[in-house]
Amino acid sequence: MSLLPADRPGELDDPAPALSRLHEALELDGRLTKDALETAATSLHLPLVDLYDAATFYHYFGVGDDVDPISNAACSGPTCALRQSQTQGDERADHGEIACPGLCDQPTPTFDGARFVADGDGGFTVPRVVDTEEALFRHIRDDKDGSIDSYRASGGYRQLSHLANGEASVQSAMESLASSGLTGRGGAAFPLAAKWRAVREAPGDLKYIVCNADEGEPGTFKDRPLLHLSPHLLLEGMALAGVAAGATTGIIYLRYEYPEALEQLLNAINEAESAGVLGSSIMGSAVAFRVWVKRGAGSYVCGEETSLLNSLEGVKPWPRERPPFPTTSGLWNRPTVINNVESFCAVPPILEKGADWFRGLGRGDNAGTKLYSVSGDVQKAGNYELPLGITAREVIEGYAGGPSEGRMTKAFTLGGISGGLLGAEHLDINLDYVSNRDLGVSLGSGGIVVVDDSRCIVEFVRMTMRFYQDESCGRCFPCRIGTVRLRELLDGLTGRADLPEDALSRMDAIGALMATTSACGLGQAAPLVVTGMFRSFRDEVDEHATGRSCREGVCSL
Ligand code: SF4
Repeated sequence: MSLLPADRPGELDDPAPALSRLHEALELDGRLTKDALETAATSLHLPLVDLYDAATFYHYFGVGDDVDPISNAACSGPTCALRQSQTQGDERADHGEIACPGLCDQPTPTFDGARFVADGDGGFTVPRVVDTEEALFRHIRDDKDGSIDSYRASGGYRQLSHLANGEASVQSAMESLASSGLTGRGGAAFPLAAKWRAVREAPGDLKYIVCNADEGEPGTFKDRPLLHLSPHLLLEGMALAGVAAGATTGIIYLRYEYPEALEQLLNAINEAESAGVLGSSIMGSAVAFRVWVKRGAGSYVCGEETSLLNSLEGVKPWPRERPPFPTTSGLWNRPTVINNVESFCAVPPILEKGADWFRGLGRGDNAGTKLYSVSGDVQKAGNYELPLGITAREVIEGYAGGPSEGRMTKAFTLGGISGGLLGAEHLDINLDYVSNRDLGVSLGSGGIVVVDDSRCIVEFVRMTMRFYQDESCGRCFPCRIGTVRLRELLDGLTGRADLPEDALSRMDAIGALMATTSACGLGQAAPLVVTGMFRSFRDEVDEHATGRSCREGVCSL
């Protein structure tokens, strides 16, 4: 099957054709040539300069007649950096670098020009089996092959049929979702039902449902198995959103790094349309819902919802000012529901089993389950669906087995790396969206990167700052310049550059400025790892700064 993200052949009324046109050109020539860009700009009715500005933003659109496409490149994300010798320097000798492709539970992945493979075996592991009840991953275990037949055999699409055919009311479905306590699982934790209701009540006939499947956060790979192994669960969740919010068009914005999921999703959409489940009539009803897949091209900031919308519109994917919010002014300025994969996938089970059931899956006051991606220095890296509010210790040292024999947990991150860095003294925190605000950290995406006691924490933080520096979109100066300055100072601490006398106070000041003045979550979150380093590892930082020594023998001091 072609990897062209040109949706389905013969499909009309493509709601967001820009990325498809660019990928078609890329597929033909291996790069975006001048002629191809001109043709695309003409067909999209976009000024060439604007399309050039947009296309050059991404990692994987090689723009220019003599540009070599990326190939033979290895992941340089913080999780994979842990696996490399930390003394190898920034560039490994035989590879270029790619940002984290979401295979953090595998050996260091590489990109061969078409696929992201993990040291030969490729693929990814199915979610780890747990001893608590699952809501989402249960479908992966029930669906078996991810086909529409197996999904329907386990009760799939029944809730959509009820809602589309009027056997269940939109009002009761919304009330059930509201009382389930389901909040968006992408990190912001906004109540899902409130967002859907806002779009339903927003003026206008044309509305959109957009799925954010751009999980580019390092150490976060929880959506991948759902996309790959249970695509119909996502399609049903999106279609339910469409019926509830009054939208007939859904778009899945899929990160470039998941080509296998692209195939699965296109297959699933074709299956659903062929079976009359989706399309101009949902299962014989008067309600339509059609889903398109749009493949990104490599850019972390496109996981920010307004950047994602700009990406779909074919313009430079900088974050937008808010307000207005996407619920009233989203894709093409129309009311738009944007949720991530995990959020949409939670909806069918809630409507099937009830709000009380879902609430009861959480720990304490927390409602439902959460998908946690655990990677780094643990024995059983992988995805786990566990109660929201479980402790970090239970996840890291219990389910994931903790560090290897003889090693101890030294630190761990939350939210991939963007939720903050904590020392082992915080292992008993609850993993939820509210109880850790005093610490200034957040659960975010649910990604957890574990660092054992053989690692230099300063070097680990330096690697995370390299990521932010590379991915800063450059729109606002606190982030554009702050990430570079922080990385330079971390270079100084680790012996790669001169170290100013006031390096630590400068890092404090820069981090505070970034947190309060950056325009989007990237710049606001980037200093959190530095804050956590100072909070839990001040002695180790001082040894680097004043003693010019590294207790782990990692830094060249
Ligand atoms: Fe771009 Fe960073 Fe500013 Fe966000 S904070 S808009 S990523 S420069």
